[in-house]
Amino acid sequence: MSTFKAIVIHKSEAGQTVRLTDFDNKDLMDGDVTVRVEYSTLNYKDGLAITGKAPVVRRFPMIAGVDLAGTVESSTHPNWKPGDKVILNGWGLGETHLGAYAEKARVKGDWLVRLPASMTARDAMAVGTAGYTAMLAVMALERAGLEPSRGPMIVTGAAGGVGSVAIAILAELGYRVIASTGRPEDADYLKGLGAGEVIERKELTGPPRPLGKERWAGGIDVVGSTTLANVLSMTRYGGAIAACGLAGGMDLPTSVAPFILRGVSLLGIDSVMCPLPLRQEAWRRLETDLDPAILATMTNEIGLDDVIAAGRSIVEGRVRGRIVVKIG
Ligand code: NDP
Repeated sequence: MSTFKAIVIHKSEAGQTVRLTDFDNKDLMDGDVTVRVEYSTLNYKDGLAITGKAPVVRRFPMIAGVDLAGTVESSTHPNWKPGDKVILNGWGLGETHLGAYAEKARVKGDWLVRLPASMTARDAMAVGTAGYTAMLAVMALERAGLEPSRGPMIVTGAAGGVGSVAIAILAELGYRVIASTGRPEDADYLKGLGAGEVIERKELTGPPRPLGKERWAGGIDVVGSTTLANVLSMTRYGGAIAACGLAGGMDLPTSVAPFILRGVSLLGIDSVMCPLPLRQEAWRRLETDLDPAILATMTNEIGLDDVIAAGRSIVEGRVRGRIVVKIG
């Protein structure tokens, strides 16, 4: 085929436009592997790109979508041959390199991870960057010495993608999970994922004190800003918090008190440029530490023509759990 379907973002002086359209093969960017995309997914960052709410896209026109799973069509890369099943998360896909909401992608073979044997392309995209980031966060907390006997874990933005997968993994590993949400009506959903306790988001949005009551040994924060500052101030002596998001803001109005008086660690998590060995370990762990049945309960499927509306919903905090996008 000389053209394929794709969600393309254009920018002009009049502003940004985004639509599902035909994209010409000859306009694909350089890469040593061409992939037939079978599934993608919707992350918060995809919503930011689609709405133009944050400057995620740095090349126009851009095919949106930061995550793909599919089959190699052609390759000049030594690791990949036609028919191989692959996953790609990040590396600038949908930001600086033409992205995943398309029937075809041409990418660098060095960016690809082999699809785990026990997963389908759809399963991998139900996990997506959100879920793989949750796994990276759990691995970072483990490297910091956390284990279930140390005490409970807080997960903020609990009903979102990273939050939902984080709860499921932590519960599977035996942690008691405290889920913080702005959607208390979703408490049954969060408990179904494995949360032992659900607290309201507003408990963590007041002006942060340097030190608060010690409530958790560690946690995963996707919200940033005053929420992360409060989470840090309520972390037990010697604990650790993995910070991976900014859904509530990019600032961090905290003090050094949790670090120097309680030995708390703040662990930064980046999925986009994460080195390959860590990615491969994360995908291996996702095969064993995330129950596929629980993943299925948090996942909804849409088609390419629903992506633009769903992108608007996710930045408004109206998407629960994970969304997979069936391509083609
Ligand atoms: P979702 O939109 O699925 O989840 C975000 C959740 O945060 C929402 O569901 C909501 O949870 C909560 N939330 C939203 N707005 C606010 C607000 N103003 N104040 C407090 N809480 C809020 O997004 P994802 O799970 O895909 O991503 C979460 C964050 O993690 C994003 O900031 C994203 O950019 C970041 N991220 C970072 C990665 C990295 O590599 N570091 C990789 C992947 C994601 P609830 O309704 O339960 O309160």
